[in-house]
Amino acid sequence: MTIFGGIEAGGTKFVCAIGTTPDDVRETRFPTTTPDETIQRALEFFRAQPRVAAIGIASFGPIDLHRASPTFGCITTTPKPGWRNTDLVGAIQRALGVPVKFDTDVNAAALGEHRWGAARDLDTFIYLTIGTGIGGGGLVSGKLMHGLIHPEMGHIRLPHDHARDPFPGSCPFHGDCLEGLASGPALEKRWGARAETLPADHPAWELQAHYLALALVNYICTLSPQRIILGGGVMEQLQLFPLIRRAVQNLLNGYVQSPAIIAKIDAYIVSPGLGKRAGVLGALALARQSAA
Ligand code: ADP
Ligand code: ZN
Repeated sequence: MTIFGGIEAGGTKFVCAIGTTPDDVRETRFPTTTPDETIQRALEFFRAQPRVAAIGIASFGPIDLHRASPTFGCITTTPKPGWRNTDLVGAIQRALGVPVKFDTDVNAAALGEHRWGAARDLDTFIYLTIGTGIGGGGLVSGKLMHGLIHPEMGHIRLPHDHARDPFPGSCPFHGDCLEGLASGPALEKRWGARAETLPADHPAWELQAHYLALALVNYICTLSPQRIILGGGVMEQLQLFPLIRRAVQNLLNGYVQSPAIIAKIDAYIVSPGLGKRAGVLGALALARQSAA
């Protein structure tokens, strides 16, 4: 069996893994510190393992995915201190001498869900993470979405009723874009407590479901996804799912005539089948693609 490597490069932690399928994975995780130190730890992990055929990197962004670009393989405009213009792909490829496949964390997670998780039967769907940031990726007609740069679904603009929600938003680029209103840090700033400490019946969740539903309605109308997978720490609040599903139906108001939305929405807006492993398994799925 060919062994592949995967790196889930997150803003908070890195997860490195080798393996063949979800049942056969060896992995390690460590905090994201400086680029030098973090990349060294990843290299140490892979050097201590059997040689892999290829490595997939599922990275926080924004990142440069254009092979012809001089900054291909770099993390670009991130506000994360020290990481701007870090050549992640170059550093790994030069040190290990294996093919490297690079994509966004959310595109990779979508690929993992397509191969092993909640989207095995579909060719057009999206995967969103609601965590420290908000990001979205997915497949359209069986191909990962790239285009000009890559989708930035977390930074769309939404109607913001300042009377209902005076919080100005926390995105350093846009203020009250989706990420600025509904990421984990936005929840913490608005309510003065970490999102995971807010009780299930706190008014935070109705407002959160409202913002996420507004965003999903925009994605449904633009991309026509056959399913929407919602992952990330904030979506561990499972009471959000019924609130979001109902709000999506109300906002669409019967216009998008599909049984998936009208009758079977419980199977339309879902948690990741791979749970918290979607990112790292997605990185392995990416590596497999590069070898295909
Ligand atoms: P990251 O986005 O850094 O990869 P996560 O997806 O875990 O990691 O997102 C972290 C954010 O999610 C933090 O803002 C945290 O407050 C929030 N969060 C983590 N777990 C929960 C939870 N169980 N309920 C609500 N919010 C959570
Ligand atoms: Zn933004």
